[in-house]
Amino acid sequence: MAAFLTRQNIPSYTLRGALIDGRPRDLHVADRVLAAPIAGALAVDLEGYALSPGLINAHDHLELNHFARTKFRERYANAHDWGEDVSTRLDDEPFAALRALPLADRCFIGGLKNLLSGALTVVHHNPPHKCLFRRDFPVRVLRRYGWAHSLHFTSEAEIVRSYRATPRAAPWFIHLAEGTDETAASEYARLKALGCVGERTVIIHGVGMSEADAAEAATRVRGLAVCPTTNTYLLGTHGLQASARAFAAAGSTLALGSDSRLTADGDLLAEIRAAGIDPARVWASTARLLGMEATPFASGTPADVIAYHAGTGLADGGRAGLALIVRGGVPQIGDPALMAQFKHVQTIPALLDGQPKRIHIRLAQQIARCALHEPGLELDADFVRSLKRAN
Ligand SMILES: [Zn+2]
Repeated sequence: MAAFLTRQNIPSYTLRGALIDGRPRDLHVADRVLAAPIAGALAVDLEGYALSPGLINAHDHLELNHFARTKFRERYANAHDWGEDVSTRLDDEPFAALRALPLADRCFIGGLKNLLSGALTVVHHNPPHKCLFRRDFPVRVLRRYGWAHSLHFTSEAEIVRSYRATPRAAPWFIHLAEGTDETAASEYARLKALGCVGERTVIIHGVGMSEADAAEAATRVRGLAVCPTTNTYLLGTHGLQASARAFAAAGSTLALGSDSRLTADGDLLAEIRAAGIDPARVWASTARLLGMEATPFASGTPADVIAYHAGTGLADGGRAGLALIVRGGVPQIGDPALMAQFKHVQTIPALLDGQPKRIHIRLAQQIARCALHEPGLELDADFVRSLKRAN
């Protein structure tokens, strides 16, 4: 084994000269962040770039990201009405055909969407499909969680059952107060009456909570996850008013989720831009919400790293503006000059939203074999042809 390889055969690197928290610092990584360099580690020059730990997406429905953004009214007073509008059409086209596609391919597109946006840890809101936890799934998906859809689409008995079945230390997620009407305003009290407001509870959306309920919730629940572009699309307001302010004021945990493309304007980077929240702050609070290490690049944590041009905001250039994405010490996609520094890694040329990139060959193979196409991502045509010939 070469000197620079760790026991898991992941090479070790020194990521040199990039800004971390505004100061240039070397970061030593293998599959995890290292406290000190390993002899013979490969140096990767990142001067002129800034580093962030892999982003954390607090809310997505990973199997729904191949749907187009969909609504049937200009504005809804409550997302329950939108849900009813969609449910009655599930057996019509295009929904029937999109739902019939293989689940693993549907989930893969959700994982790929997140990976390309640097969101390397994702909370999935729906059943924990087996394919999400395969080693080759593009991102880490939270394993220990409970969930219920909402007070409208889930029976009270089922809500109580799933809440009680969730271990105390794990988060339990529910869409709540996703509207601006009286129904939305009443939902926190209804959830409390069911005995489901507590240290496990993570409220998703919370747009229509009263100020008094939001202030109380901020002291009682585990956190609030907001999805601004979905809320703007369906409800005409981004959901960052009373509820998010109350959580911020109480020093409680506020997190950001992308939701799926069925309602969202793209990915987690779009949510960061829409929320106008400092990505480093929301990263730390989302990490706390999920019980993860909340100090960036703490030694021993997974080497999930994204690089972007210093002097720009992390989310400013969208996903094509991210210069490098490393998951568990393995570079997945990046600008050609940066990927070329990982000399032992075989990469394939690609275009992401018109920008030249290189993609790790294993990821490129998965992308080429997926029955669904990721919009805006084009792999090198010769590579795709050769893969088809080989099959
Ligand atoms: Zn949702």
